[in-house]
Amino acid sequence: MLSPYPNLLSPLDLGFTTLRNRVVMGSMHTGLEDRAGHIDRLAEYFAERARGGVGLIVTGGYAPNRTGWLLPFAAELTTSAQARRHRRVTGAVHDAGGKILLQILHAGRYAFHPLSVSASSIKAPINPFRPRALSNRGVEGTIDDFVRCARLAREAGYDGVEIMGSEGYLVNQFLAPRTNKRTDRWGGTPAHRRRFPVEIVRRTRAAVGPDFIISYRMSMADYVEDGQSWDETVALATEVEAAGVTIINSGFGWHEARVPTIVTSVPNSAFVDISDTVAQHVGIPVVASNRINMPEAAEQILADTRVQLISMARPLLSDPEWVRKAQSDRAHEINTCIACNQACLDHVFVKKTATCLLNPRAARETQLVLSPTRHARSVAVVGAGPAGLAAAVSAAQRGHRVTLFEANDFIGGQFDMARRIPGKEEFSETIRYFAAMLAKHGVEVRLGTRATADELTGHDPGYDAVILATGVAPRMPSIPGIDHPKVLTYAEAITGAKPVGKKVAVIGAGGIGFDVGELLATEHSPTLDLKDWKTEWGVADPQEARGALTTPRPAPPAREIYLLQRSKGPQGKRLGKTTGWVHRASLRAKGVHQLSGVNYERIDDEGLHISFGSKRERRQMLPVDTVVVCAGQEPVRDLEDELRRRGVDPHIIGGAALAAELDAKRAIREGTELAARL
Ligand code: NAP
Ligand code: SF4
Repeated sequence: MLSPYPNLLSPLDLGFTTLRNRVVMGSMHTGLEDRAGHIDRLAEYFAERARGGVGLIVTGGYAPNRTGWLLPFAAELTTSAQARRHRRVTGAVHDAGGKILLQILHAGRYAFHPLSVSASSIKAPINPFRPRALSNRGVEGTIDDFVRCARLAREAGYDGVEIMGSEGYLVNQFLAPRTNKRTDRWGGTPAHRRRFPVEIVRRTRAAVGPDFIISYRMSMADYVEDGQSWDETVALATEVEAAGVTIINSGFGWHEARVPTIVTSVPNSAFVDISDTVAQHVGIPVVASNRINMPEAAEQILADTRVQLISMARPLLSDPEWVRKAQSDRAHEINTCIACNQACLDHVFVKKTATCLLNPRAARETQLVLSPTRHARSVAVVGAGPAGLAAAVSAAQRGHRVTLFEANDFIGGQFDMARRIPGKEEFSETIRYFAAMLAKHGVEVRLGTRATADELTGHDPGYDAVILATGVAPRMPSIPGIDHPKVLTYAEAITGAKPVGKKVAVIGAGGIGFDVGELLATEHSPTLDLKDWKTEWGVADPQEARGALTTPRPAPPAREIYLLQRSKGPQGKRLGKTTGWVHRASLRAKGVHQLSGVNYERIDDEGLHISFGSKRERRQMLPVDTVVVCAGQEPVRDLEDELRRRGVDPHIIGGAALAAELDAKRAIREGTELAARL
């Protein structure tokens, strides 16, 4: 059979070793790295991806010394005893035919502890700890520690190391005038600032020999003021090549940057041009990364540019079989990462083990096992939202006979709404994935069918298990005038079932209130093209501006919007750690009026009347022609009582179980875990 993706799936000869294809699983810290007791889970997590066909895996970051820890007692590789433990990881990956690099990451001033160090003593805006400036001896010692870490990685059986030189970590801090104010041999001029990474590479190569991969993750655009200039970036690429690097990986944006680089609203393949231009200046392979998640796009990049490898981290979390599916022309079966960050990066930032919203087995491969059942049962699932879909597909995959009832004539539930929000169009990929899986595993899907208790209990033999995943209904608060024709539910506003005026009040500033604000303030649809996205966020071509920044010029808002909440304080506090700031900045840029501590008085022809204060002392009338209610949800469990009366004990999952925390991550996890137990 002709390969559907000839470039993507072709091997890459690195001279002393060959990668079996062009897919690199990029580094993603899971949290499993931080505990010695989790090494077997970590080994299985990587082995599953190696079995799935990935060409090259890069581990999460390991510090080369204590000052480089991301958090107190975070992952480090500093002793032979630790290296011996890693043999479980490298052995498992090699047994599965894969190759794996250990990433060496020194956090520098991003270290969340008092031992932190940097090129200069300048505090990061996102960290309370001020770093100590390394002395000359300290710099030399740190380079030695990188080299020791690489030697230990070799001892542990790794195929190489990746030196983390991007995202604003220590190496990047030496490179940028923003953070390197030194006047000694490690700073002052661009060449002096480059000396630190170049020496790390040169001495590492001397220590590990010629037949060991050294990947250098390079910041190709810092997206911070006083970042590197383009000349400096190109000079760095050529110098690390000369110093012995095997491949150059791409990194974009420091953690403190106010340019989003990984969330769903960043256009696909947004940064490929930059990697391509760097590739023009070096003779070694360059890896493209960020917002590439499907084989077709990856193939196109390899066909059209000088980039030779594609790095994906999160897409391999959401689907460990990504490569196998591409190889067998089953891209439609890929569980495409939707760049939501909700279960991966957001977990890492609150010290929880990373997993995936779409694939709750990620990093729990040894715990959440969907083994074939020995007793096939007949299962009815009511509701084809995320919870019901996950339950139906996972149960059918195990061999159960599954019937899925859905009142709408389409599947997706809340995801069908999410996909309509600007910047969230990729949520439709999840619906495509589930549709493919329902078909593949033979689920009988009854669309346009509101299941009744009769339907679920009235025939013989009945269902062995009934799962209610009936979701939620919007909550309608008891405000005088709530039944005024100008009042819409969020579902009506999002689906366009009812027209929305030019002046709008949004009641409720949770995740859905923010989404509705974004949708209604935005003229464009679907997603922004790359040029408009750059204009909106002030993203410059790195060849034209140091740090690759310019003045943001957001498009004028399509409507005047008031976003309201009863609680006091800033809005959007409960949005995701790594995505919330993007939503907040986006609404600010669109001039959305954000009012907190609001009492809702009444809705009438004039508009929405509100007041502030416990005695309602300050009153205001918002002259709006539409009020959209995003005040949370109520569970829909109509069938439960009747089923119980008939002696059926249904399983209740997702929003139907707990609407207060309606959340796709919990819904999919509950559906999958239930199916694993059936
Ligand atoms: P939510 O996040 O719980 O927000 C509900 C909002 O309604 C709150 O702002 C609340 O604020 C207000 N509210 C609650 N009861 C009210 C009442 N009786 N009268 C008036 N206002 C009331 O719920 P959601 O926005 O429906 O989102 C549902 C879930 O989906 C959440 O778990 C959310 O995280 C998730 N989601 C996330 C995103 C995202 O991260 N971008 C996007 C969409 C959905 P006050 O009580 O202060 O008024
Ligand atoms: Fe992708 Fe979201 Fe899964 Fe993270 S949690 S891997 S961003 S789908």
